[in-house]
Amino acid sequence: MSQPDIPFPGSPVVPNMVEADHVIQFSCHKGIGCWNACCSNIDISLTPYDVLRLKNHLGISSTEFLREYTVPYEMEKDSIAGAKFRPVENGTACRFMRPEGCDVYADRPTACRYYPVALLSMRKQDEYVDNDYYAIVKEDHCKGHEVDRRITIADYRKEQGLEEYDELARGWRQLVLKKKSCGPAVGKPSLKSRQFFFMACYDIDRFREFVSTESFNRLFELPQEEKDALRTDDVALLQFAFRYLRQVLFGEESISLNAEAAEERLAKVLEKRVIEEREAAKRRALETEEDFEEDISDDGEPVV
Ligand code: SF4
Ligand code: SF4
Repeated sequence: MSQPDIPFPGSPVVPNMVEADHVIQFSCHKGIGCWNACCSNIDISLTPYDVLRLKNHLGISSTEFLREYTVPYEMEKDSIAGAKFRPVENGTACRFMRPEGCDVYADRPTACRYYPVALLSMRKQDEYVDNDYYAIVKEDHCKGHEVDRRITIADYRKEQGLEEYDELARGWRQLVLKKKSCGPAVGKPSLKSRQFFFMACYDIDRFREFVSTESFNRLFELPQEEKDALRTDDVALLQFAFRYLRQVLFGEESISLNAEAAEERLAKVLEKRVIEEREAAKRRALETEEDFEEDISDDGEPVV
């Protein structure tokens, strides 16, 4: 199997891609000498499902959670954004770290569950199917590798509740992989579309407001049962968000459009575009006139 390039010398990631049947030696438990060392210096990217679990654990909206506990980051320059944990004020520790352990343990994020394994999702350019490989992270401070317990990565994933976490974030990973593999060939996404992508994936309570609008419900024909689920079920809404993004970003239609509303919308978009182009032409004409006046000296002769 080909090995990934590791461009960071000294990286704790063991440069070996392994599969789920690979056996690791590891155990983490309270009382170990390095207890909480990993949570004292964090760099944790969150999946949309992580955000959903954590905001529900804390009993706050996704908007509040994102504002209070995360910082956005660009996955690639001028590309889609993700969210990372914001550490404590003036420090590097996780805000949920307590002397007795993780304060949100039942809903801790994917990256915390995986440690010391890293998930590497990969897909071929023309495919939607992604394949999972893994890498092992070995950091000097982590004594868990010295504990005599052997377990396959597949069983470790089960133990850590990762099957559910990975399944419910799969749609998002596929979108990210597809967006990245499109590269510059499809052009830079506009700021508005990047903001929308972030909102639909992470700010699920605002996305709920969006799918509740009259214009959305006029344009998309959803069975009543599905509409009810989107109103009340966060997981159903998140999976719908991924499906919706596949449709609007990559033209993979799975949500029926109301033909009449779609025609009206198209006509509005075209009308708006004509007005914008007319305004832009007017502005260009005025600029040309101003340039022309500037180029003429007071005695009416062109300035050379
Ligand atoms: S969420 Fe919990 S396990 Fe993850 S870094 Fe914070 S304290 Fe540690
Ligand atoms: S064994 Fe590793 S994962 Fe567990 S507390 Fe220590 S540093 Fe963290």
